[in-house]
Amino acid sequence: MTEERVEQVFGPVYFRKFVCDGKACGSLCCGGWHIPVDPLARKRFESLSDPARDDIFGKLSEKESGWEMRHGEEGNCAFLDGDGLCSLQKEHGEELLPDVCYSFPRVTYRFSGFAERALSVSCPVAALIVLPPSEPLPIEMREEPALRSSAAVRPPMEALRWESALPSIQLRAVSFLQDRELTLWQRLLRLGRFLASLEARCGKEPPDEEALRLCALEAESGEKSAPRAEAMPRLRYMAALTAALYEAEYPADRLEALACQVAVVEAEAEKEIHKRYGHILENLAVNEFFLRLYPFACGGGLLANFKLFALRFRLAEFSLLLSATAENAVPDEETVLAMLGRVMERLDHSRAADDFLRECVASDMRGLSAERVISLL
Ligand code: SF4
Repeated sequence: MTEERVEQVFGPVYFRKFVCDGKACGSLCCGGWHIPVDPLARKRFESLSDPARDDIFGKLSEKESGWEMRHGEEGNCAFLDGDGLCSLQKEHGEELLPDVCYSFPRVTYRFSGFAERALSVSCPVAALIVLPPSEPLPIEMREEPALRSSAAVRPPMEALRWESALPSIQLRAVSFLQDRELTLWQRLLRLGRFLASLEARCGKEPPDEEALRLCALEAESGEKSAPRAEAMPRLRYMAALTAALYEAEYPADRLEALACQVAVVEAEAEKEIHKRYGHILENLAVNEFFLRLYPFACGGGLLANFKLFALRFRLAEFSLLLSATAENAVPDEETVLAMLGRVMERLDHSRAADDFLRECVASDMRGLSAERVISLL
């Protein structure tokens, strides 16, 4: 019997609970999406003998960008069977799958000493594992079975340079996000101050534990809350961002009407959403931190990363506010999980949406402090 290969893994401790179940989600990730076939997967397909090889290549197409799975008549992956399962996996096993099918919804960043790994909540089965727990998500360095190395995402250069300090930085960040003595926005504010202080204190050098301790103290020493900016400009901005996220062209009067409607319910609905689903939003924020490898998800420094993080979080929360506005009631938990999954799917899988938000951070939030960003969202 061969021994299972293991590796050091850092991140939320829920990973082994995930089992793909196409029947439970309606094979969500097998429909509509573009599914690339990486060169190693193509080689594996080529090494099969006929008729399996012929059958597989009959379900692939070659595009300028490379090979990909064909879609069947209903827009699903050509390998998806009527039972909601993948015929490629059923007939040949998981090892034959292209990297994207083998890994989704797991996202792995591989460093020299450990791998960082999280589940994307755009998979409904993963969302049910990640979001509902009422206890804070545990985060640890531990051993787990190693995943195929070609399916890992290469971390950005800055993250690689700060590898030695990354787990400590992320643990500090998570301790702010999971501080249940504070409101969600107070926690975000402290996180923003912490990252701003780290950026100012450390420049390009990874911090040691003492520097992290001092930055954490600095983050805790300021005002607990930032005064909120006037409702209408804030809500107009969020409504415009939401429309852009779904690539919808809303005329100015429609955006204005939407912002006005949300303004009527915002205070009460937000309070109720935080009361009933604060733990879900907290878990979403903590999970995002690992899934996108904050504070190195985008260029521009640690504070810019905080801005992107806060903007994405607010967009997710804003979708719940929109639902509460439309239905005149805060959504139930099932709807909340589905809505958050859809927003994250949009944010994670649409290059246009991702580019757009990075552009917002670079232009609309340029030069703003963490306090100012929190007050504007
Ligand atoms: S990975 Fe998730 S979304 Fe995709 S088929 Fe499996 S359970 Fe469904």
